[in-house]
Amino acid sequence: MAPVLKTAEELEIMRQAGRIVAIAHEEMRRAIEPGVSTKRLDSIALTVLRDHGAEPCFLGYAPGNHPPFPATITASINNELVHGIPSESRALAEGDVIGIDVACFYQGYVGDAAFTHPVGEISRSAKRLLNATEAALDAAIQASILGNKISDVAKATSKCAGRQGYSVAREYTGHGVGQAMHEEPQVPNWWHSKKSKHQWEDYDLQIGMTYAIEPMLIAGRPDLAELDDGWTVVTKDGSLTAHFEHTVAITEAGPRILTLA
Ligand code: MG
Repeated sequence: MAPVLKTAEELEIMRQAGRIVAIAHEEMRRAIEPGVSTKRLDSIALTVLRDHGAEPCFLGYAPGNHPPFPATITASINNELVHGIPSESRALAEGDVIGIDVACFYQGYVGDAAFTHPVGEISRSAKRLLNATEAALDAAIQASILGNKISDVAKATSKCAGRQGYSVAREYTGHGVGQAMHEEPQVPNWWHSKKSKHQWEDYDLQIGMTYAIEPMLIAGRPDLAELDDGWTVVTKDGSLTAHFEHTVAITEAGPRILTLA
């Protein structure tokens, strides 16, 4: 199914959804410190969403064999790549990095963004990984221009990661965003030279295309496992990970980030 192209009016609603997500992120960022539980961050996000007339996309989300996701945010600490479940008993510790992903429905449209934050003072290597992941997101956004394809966006991410000696998550991708949280196209963090090896489609970028780009960089090997909770994805070698995400629109004037405050 080809990506759904959005009208200018739809983009304005998506911009509002994205702003609400950005405000939730900002409120959580302020609360991050050693000792704070991931459940507390989750409560902050839910309050912001509801105060703005939005609803969380993840709460109750149950694709495939997954149990319904029980929270508003995913909170993934250190070697947890994505999809960590917030918990009262999981407190942040000095030196951790925490990846938080939030998506909301607002007036029928979705905004989706993720950030990875330091908790207190973090190691130099952790800082370097966070910076590289943000740089990869920026490179992929800059590649989101007319004349390019989804594969160019994917390659921008992997090139940026590889240059700094990091792996990317191969099985998890960004995705089209619109009335549903996951639409076409899939937006991978890498691209194989052989088309037959891919399960995803390449598309020419077009005005009105909207998708979430989400580089997930890994300091060690890119082999991943899912925990028994049915959600949390971790690196098998325990290495550190980082995840940043913005929802963007392709416009005549270039990429437009929809998930800014
Ligand atoms: Mg997301």
